[in-house]
Amino acid sequence: MSLFAPDRYVARVELIDLDDLWGSGKRAILLDRDNTLVPRDRHDAPESVAAWLDAARKRGFSLYMVSNNWHKDQVERSARELGLKAICFACKPLPFALDRALKHLGVARDEAVMVGDQLYTDVWAGNFAGIDSILVKPQTTVDLWYTHIFRIFERRALKNVPCEE
Ligand SMILES: [Mg+2]
Repeated sequence: MSLFAPDRYVARVELIDLDDLWGSGKRAILLDRDNTLVPRDRHDAPESVAAWLDAARKRGFSLYMVSNNWHKDQVERSARELGLKAICFACKPLPFALDRALKHLGVARDEAVMVGDQLYTDVWAGNFAGIDSILVKPQTTVDLWYTHIFRIFERRALKNVPCEE
């Protein structure tokens, strides 16, 4: 797969099959916050997302939120509510925050997967860090102004990439 494309494209985080992921050797899931777990127009994650995270923990996965959001209080609140470790202001697509999360968890690159809703931050960060990436569709159409610009290019790049619904 290209350095700039996701390994998988799935409509929602809750549709990622945890048994499949475990079977493919993954033991850690690094997760974006905004529009992946927590919709941009809300302060908390939907029940279905919280339930999926619980199921992942029960299955044995280590979870880590890696967010570009610079509002430490928002990121820490979500992390607390969802029972996740977290890094804010991660500067994705730079890979360093992902490296830190892996080191903290004591997990090898090939045992981890990065899940997020943005091609140019989450997926590229995963790919640059040598970690498999799963792109999900954003939970809402509410985004930061500059994200709307990236979305234009993202839509073009994803035009022929099938999405698992
Ligand atoms: Mg996001």
